[in-house]
Amino acid sequence: MTGPSTLSGLLDAVLAAGPACGPDTAELFTGGRGWETFDQRLRREQRAKAVCVTCPALWQCLSYSLALDPVEGVWAGLSQDDRDGIRAQAAA
Ligand code: SF4
Repeated sequence: MTGPSTLSGLLDAVLAAGPACGPDTAELFTGGRGWETFDQRLRREQRAKAVCVTCPALWQCLSYSLALDPVEGVWAGLSQDDRDGIRAQAAA
């Protein structure tokens, strides 16, 4: 399988696929700037993940987020805790 290999190319692929999120929903995916409890964060992340499940750009977003390696937020249905867990399992 071939596809874009640069970050900008990967991002273009996400945008071309019609992502279900955007600037107006950024706070749902990142938590914005407000403080939130652990439970509030988990509930917010579950709502964000529910959007990702139906997103036409899910696979493109996964490729982009793997290349970008973001330090926070829900990307392609994965939270930072999810990504940390995957990295820990891959390193074991
Ligand atoms: S998979 Fe989730 S984070 Fe990625 S573009 Fe779609 S809605 Fe946004």
